[in-house]
Amino acid sequence: MSEAGNSISLRADKLTKRFGGFYALKDFDMDVAKGDIHAVIGPNGAGKTTFFNLVTGMLPADSGRITFEDEAIDDPRPSRRTMRGIARTFQNIRLFGQMTVLENVMLGRHCRAYLSLWKALRNTVLHRPLGEAEEEREMRGHALEILDFLGLSDERHAKATDLSHGKQRKLELARALATDPRLLLLDEPAAGMNPHETEELDDVICSVRDRGITIILVEHDMNLVMGISDRVTVLNFGTKIAEGAPKEIQDDPTVIEAYLGEDVSL
Ligand code: ADP
Ligand code: MG
Repeated sequence: MSEAGNSISLRADKLTKRFGGFYALKDFDMDVAKGDIHAVIGPNGAGKTTFFNLVTGMLPADSGRITFEDEAIDDPRPSRRTMRGIARTFQNIRLFGQMTVLENVMLGRHCRAYLSLWKALRNTVLHRPLGEAEEEREMRGHALEILDFLGLSDERHAKATDLSHGKQRKLELARALATDPRLLLLDEPAAGMNPHETEELDDVICSVRDRGITIILVEHDMNLVMGISDRVTVLNFGTKIAEGAPKEIQDDPTVIEAYLGEDVSL
């Protein structure tokens, strides 16, 4: 998929991030082909979440370039990157605990509603009706559709904190999907899930990809990673040490060595 330039979703070019004198990421290059599930794996502290923070604008890079769909990403604001079509979930779940499941997803839609604000302003200037109720209906309908897709419809009026851990992870995914991304970054989505929930997650990630959304998956569950990824990039101490198809990665001695001492079976 990655021969032609326009089939690349995301390109990282010599991305570097330092904390003091410590390199969390160093000269990191990576091409993510459109439509792929591309895993980024590596031992704890390898720089995986830092990479996501740079892509989403949550942290500024010290040097290097990120290109999304053939255009450099240079506006540092995370909201701009969301509007460009990049969404993420967090390793440590971040939800509005006191709000309902549905409200959490509708908030994810907020970035698109922001665009609609301009539409509304324009309509005011042109003395057209605001169409607020219609906007709200559209947002709610969209959120309900996503909850249905993820099997969370029955819990739509529950408080987010009342959901099981596995369902809270799904809700994070729902909120990310509500922004209509073309690229979705998943940071350890299976963490804390039981085997049944992980199996369901496997299906969900594949269905998201089948909707045309490119996925970068950071995950420690190697069954999940090796089962669904088209390509795997391996980070260790902020540097890429291997990249290839799942089978190649599983047999790579450099990768096996990097994981020595970690409770992970490749
Ligand atoms: P991973 O997600 O692969 O486990 P991280 O990207 O979270 O790793 O972290 C990579 C390294 O950078 C770790 O050594 C971590 O302690 C360090 N690090 C991450 N964020 C910060 C920060 N905000 N300040 C200082 N050090 C950080
Ligand atoms: Mg991490």
